[in-house]
Amino acid sequence: MTKIENNTVATVHYTGTLPKSGEIFDSSKDRDPLTFLVGHKQMIPGFERELMGASVGEKVEFTLSAEDAYGEHNPDAIQKVPVEMFGEIKPETGMTLMSDMGPFRVTEVGDELVTVDFNHALAGESLTFNVEIVEIRDATEEEIAHGHAHGPGGHHH
Ligand code: ZN
Repeated sequence: MTKIENNTVATVHYTGTLPKSGEIFDSSKDRDPLTFLVGHKQMIPGFERELMGASVGEKVEFTLSAEDAYGEHNPDAIQKVPVEMFGEIKPETGMTLMSDMGPFRVTEVGDELVTVDFNHALAGESLTFNVEIVEIRDATEEEIAHGHAHGPGGHHH
C-alpha cells in the first residue's frame, strides 16, 4: 500500500486549531480536500514530517511548535509607517494588504502613523492539526520537475 513519502502526491482533509484556545483557524471540511506534492516545501515543515509513512484512511493528529509551523514572531517585522503611504486606501485595524515586501496586517491606526505587521498571522503560534489521508499517488515526472501537484486540487496550467 502506498504511504506518504517524498515525491508522492497526497490529498488530505485537515482541521487546524490553536491548542491554547481551541479556536479553528483553518479547515478543509467544507471544501475540497487539499492536494500537495510531498517533499517540495509546499507545506509548513512540520506538517509533512508528521504525515510521513501514513496511508489512505489513516487519521493523524499532531501539534507543531511555532518553529515547525509559521515561524517565531519577529518583532523587527512590526513597523510604523506614515499614513500617507497608504494613498487612497484608508487603513483600518485588522486589514491585510499586499506590498512589494509581501502581505502585511494593519495592527494599529494613529493620526499620522500606522503600525503594520509583516509576520504571518499564525507566527509564534503552536498549531494542532487533525488530518485524514484521502488519497496518495506517485507524483509524475512533470510534477516533480515543477515542484507542485497537478490535476484536481493541484495547480493547473
Ligand atoms: Zn506545474
